[in-house]
Amino acid sequence: MIVVLKSNPNQKQLDNLMMWLRSMDLDIHTSEGSKHTILGLVGDTSKVDIDLISALDIVDEVKRIQEPYKNANRKFHPEDSVIDVNGVKIGGGNFQIIAGPCSVETEEQICEVAKDVKASGATLLRGGAFKPRTSPYSFQGLANEGLRLLLEAKAMTGLPIVTEIMDMSQLDLFGEVDIIQVGARNMQNFMLLKELGKTNKPILLKRGLSSTLEELLMSAEYIMAGGNEKVILCERGIRTFETYTRNTLDLSAIPVLKRLTHLPIIIDPSHSTGKAALVEPMSLAATAAGADGLIIEVHNDPQHALCDGPQSITPAAFDKLSKKIFGLRNFLTEEN
Ligand code: PEP
Ligand code: MN
Repeated sequence: MIVVLKSNPNQKQLDNLMMWLRSMDLDIHTSEGSKHTILGLVGDTSKVDIDLISALDIVDEVKRIQEPYKNANRKFHPEDSVIDVNGVKIGGGNFQIIAGPCSVETEEQICEVAKDVKASGATLLRGGAFKPRTSPYSFQGLANEGLRLLLEAKAMTGLPIVTEIMDMSQLDLFGEVDIIQVGARNMQNFMLLKELGKTNKPILLKRGLSSTLEELLMSAEYIMAGGNEKVILCERGIRTFETYTRNTLDLSAIPVLKRLTHLPIIIDPSHSTGKAALVEPMSLAATAAGADGLIIEVHNDPQHALCDGPQSITPAAFDKLSKKIFGLRNFLTEEN
């Protein structure tokens, strides 16, 4: 971090600043120019509040050189993280497909979809019990009953389950959930992230609709700073001026995040496009771009789905798609 001081800074204020910076275990390299003095801060600056320094009378400008996240930063953890979900590994070359309906609706629906997607190669089952809907009048999910049905599908198929938490008051209900999903709308619910940091559950953290990649990584940092390193990042489309698709899938997030972090990155082709017909091409593109996995909405009767029918693919379409994905994965790994 570089701090540019105003000319002729008040000596007492400068001494106080230096003392404060040293108290954070930082070394200070001072270089005096003809007009400005520059302080180069060396050490772990991730905990330094840049706004606090910028606000000081004697400070002209502050620039970060190092990223403000440490635990999620690849610089301090060069190896890919591999997240083990009950024996199913994600990251570090381990590619997984999470599939299932947007929402758990009935026992028959979730169990049927679970059996089908497992037979087609999915290794984790998704299904929302608590649904973050834009309208309060839309189906809000089956709540506790939805969790119970998911656990039934898990017992029947052996597939670990992924489901969304919307509030920390629900945490006690998630004891047998294998991956807790934090949805796009909650990516910056910092109180929730802090609570999840105290658990040892894998967390699927979805990128907010209008969040930068750095903001996504700072949210991961919240969870990791609490001691929970098991974070899986998910790009699920961001809001742009384009209206043809529900969101715009930012595929460049994959190679960018791969450089910045050691955490696994998966892609959601369903919420990013909003259209079933676009799920296959985007899944293949994400696989080719190096994603560690996919989360795909599959429904046995998309036309009558209570949530996100237009973007849900049928088990038959999922079967076709997963064959292509595995074919592409084989091709890519043989080539390398
Ligand atoms: C979901 O996965 O069902 C969901 C609501 O996703 P997102 O938070 O990305 O909108
Ligand atoms: Mn959905």
